[in-house]
Amino acid sequence: MDLHIQTRLSQPVNSVPDHVKTLQMPVFRASTFVFDNTQDMIDAYDWTRPYNYSYGTHGTPTTYALADQIAVLEGAKHCLLAPSGLSVIQLVNSTFLASGDEVWLPENSYYPNHEHLSMLQERYGVVLKSYNPVDVESFQPTEKCKLLWLEAAGSVSLEFPDLIGLIKKAKAKGILTAIDSTWGAGLAYNSFDLDDEHTAVDISVHALTKYPSGGGDILMGSVCTADRELYLKVLKTHALQGIAVSGDDCANIQRNLASMALRYQKHHDNTLVLIEYLSQCKEFSRVLHPSIASHAGHEYWQAVCKTGLAAGLVSVVVDGCKTVEQIQAFCNQLNLFKLGYSWGGATSLVMYYQVQRQAMQHEKPVYIVRFVVGLEHIDDLIQDIEQARVVFA
Ligand SMILES: *Cc1c(COP(=O)(O)O)cnc(C)c1O
Repeated sequence: MDLHIQTRLSQPVNSVPDHVKTLQMPVFRASTFVFDNTQDMIDAYDWTRPYNYSYGTHGTPTTYALADQIAVLEGAKHCLLAPSGLSVIQLVNSTFLASGDEVWLPENSYYPNHEHLSMLQERYGVVLKSYNPVDVESFQPTEKCKLLWLEAAGSVSLEFPDLIGLIKKAKAKGILTAIDSTWGAGLAYNSFDLDDEHTAVDISVHALTKYPSGGGDILMGSVCTADRELYLKVLKTHALQGIAVSGDDCANIQRNLASMALRYQKHHDNTLVLIEYLSQCKEFSRVLHPSIASHAGHEYWQAVCKTGLAAGLVSVVVDGCKTVEQIQAFCNQLNLFKLGYSWGGATSLVMYYQVQRQAMQHEKPVYIVRFVVGLEHIDDLIQDIEQARVVFA
């Protein structure tokens, strides 16, 4: 039969020869998979099967390849991908929380998680409670508690939680533990093997938007676990929420994973040099970083970050006699440090925040400037801060 041109152009061309091998896997883009017969199509529909190729929302060889790599990175067994870091946080919240359940969040949590849980509290009667991450005693779960969120280090002010103490307390009461491990990135500590007793979290979420992407240009999140039952629960919510990631984004992250450990080390090294400089600036009354002995949770960081690594974020508390206008002027005056959210890319970023932390014994809110240290030469970054400090004079 002679086919019309419209028909010929609409039919699939599946012609990759078996013997052709490239370093990078070809990028699969699929909503639809095609089957040889109806029985194969019916069999594929079982979404609990690993590597399910029934419909694009479940995954493609490209997305499964990245998920497998992230599971290796995190020391877990199972991994699911979703379109942003925040989407995996909400995936965990909506999988494990029901009306009346209690959930605990550290006071220095990634703020949108707090906002998501507040929304669940208002609409569905989830009970949200907050604790001081360096004080296990402040975590006082009732029998309704279902989930303990951990974040190491915490957002903006970077206190490092008593991970072992908190996890042990939750486990003793049968409470599920979930960590936001974006800062550690699977490199600074192993969420699934934290100490000699192999203390482990149940679930780890990671904003792949940050170090795995490394470019400030891709949004993605992962949720990992070592427990198949938990994995299946998250998988079901994931499947029903219809959240899927792009093959092109996965291939780009996969490619950047190879350099991630090197990049992370460099972000860390640059940050340590910057800390020395910042400690001498009199307009900054305190430098906040887990490697500093007086920092809240320093000993907990030492206990689980046996690599000695601490990412590329450092914050400073601005001296109380400086005005918010001066702080804004300082941020605006910086050239190399760009004003922007997120982190993990080559370009340094800066922003100021107003926070109050029990962990830091703050009695009233203080202004903090957070530096996201990129991959530029550290001397240039220091020079940039030096010239911007004139606004404080
Ligand atoms: C950025 C970030 C997220 C959210 O990731 P997005 O991909 O930006 O949604 C979650 N947790 C932490 C600690 C983050 O820094």
